[in-house]
Amino acid sequence: MVQPQEPEFEQAYNELYSTLKESTLFKKHPEYERVIPVVSVPERIIQFRVTWEDDKGVMHVNRGYRVQFNSALGPYKGGLRLHPSVNLSILKFLGYEQIFKNALTGLSMGGGKGGSDFDPKGKSDNEIRRFCTAFIRQLARHIGQFTDVPAGDIGTTGREIGFMFGAYKQMQNQWEGVLTGKGLSWGGSLIRPEATGYGLVYYVEKMIEKATNGKESFAGKRVAVSGSGNVAQYAALKVIELGGTVVSLSDSKGAIISQTGITKEHIEAIADAKVKFKSLKEVVGEYSAFSANKVQYIEGARPWVHVGKVDVALPSATQNEVSGEEAKALVAAGCKYIAEGSNMGSTQDAIDVFEAERKSASSIGDAIWYAPGKAANCGGVAVSGLEMAQNSQRVQWTAEEVDQKLKDIMVNCFNTCYETATAYTAETNKGSLPSLVMGANVAGFVKVAEA
Ligand code: GLU
Repeated sequence: MVQPQEPEFEQAYNELYSTLKESTLFKKHPEYERVIPVVSVPERIIQFRVTWEDDKGVMHVNRGYRVQFNSALGPYKGGLRLHPSVNLSILKFLGYEQIFKNALTGLSMGGGKGGSDFDPKGKSDNEIRRFCTAFIRQLARHIGQFTDVPAGDIGTTGREIGFMFGAYKQMQNQWEGVLTGKGLSWGGSLIRPEATGYGLVYYVEKMIEKATNGKESFAGKRVAVSGSGNVAQYAALKVIELGGTVVSLSDSKGAIISQTGITKEHIEAIADAKVKFKSLKEVVGEYSAFSANKVQYIEGARPWVHVGKVDVALPSATQNEVSGEEAKALVAAGCKYIAEGSNMGSTQDAIDVFEAERKSASSIGDAIWYAPGKAANCGGVAVSGLEMAQNSQRVQWTAEEVDQKLKDIMVNCFNTCYETATAYTAETNKGSLPSLVMGANVAGFVKVAEA
């Protein structure tokens, strides 16, 4: 299934396949194993050249991609990543995860992913607009509201979606919900910017509730968060709203740690600075409220080994951002719940650490709970699905309506993962806490395989 030089895709494929084999799925339904190659080779990969001019009139060339991985459940759906690291292995891993994630939302969406090695950092608005227009000019003929509906991901915010949507609309001479993550006044959905972060916290609320028999919640919990983009910001804000303490955030250059808690005010300052491509180091230096609150900046570090005692960890930056060693440090720091706002946030070594702890626990209350990104962060694409529904109906739902639907989807997703894991755990492993990784993989895979 895996081509040479596809380490990220290989990791995502092995993670899925190994948990399916560990479950009783193929024993109960041997025919499903034959579906593995069907879902593991993309239906179509589109690669193209993107040429654009900078503000000085100099021509630049970037690579553009769209991996249309699987359309069994609906139109291809998934974000566009704009980052210099983007290559086909990364987009195949993201597209592969997206198939099963989208299945777990319960909505009718297939899986896809795309993007470019273009780096929006440091570019002017006009340069970004010229790139986005050139990118969508190449991609337009391959997408559409019933075919493939891209959205944002790392590097692609409402601004980039806006430039692409405007260019697409002019080319096709028709208004259609071809992209999600749109602005509110031109077809976007309320709660879409918040959805991934809020959804992540709603999922973890269910983990805590289940582990403690309803006795505990986020109130009083110490929560380590990584990243400082859209997902991390809204996850942190929701944790604060629910009474938890956010002890960390990070960006590609370093981490900030506060034992007394990063505040709503800090997060607003970070959000403002990130739109201007400023680093956390600059924000902390410029804004006096950070020093007043004893926010410490650690250059070149990820938060995990620096956070001290925590109850919850929410990796929300990018793939492979928790190593095996960092996973051990989190476990030693008392962390009981790990849920990924990022896609494939944990390395396989880290997952092995968390899963070994789960298996060896004597009771549900003592176990470590690890939720993979494809389950815990499905709230983002779920509200994208709700945006598509609103576009088709020509309506806009209220924030309360969308938030309630998001909550219901996250609760259903948790229950599906938990119940599927219970149903497909081999006799020899019964008695331990069901694996949410296995539950997510089996439930997502079965839905696609049946389709
Ligand atoms: N990029 C997000 C994800 O990883 C959202 C995709 C979408 O809304 O289509 O799920």
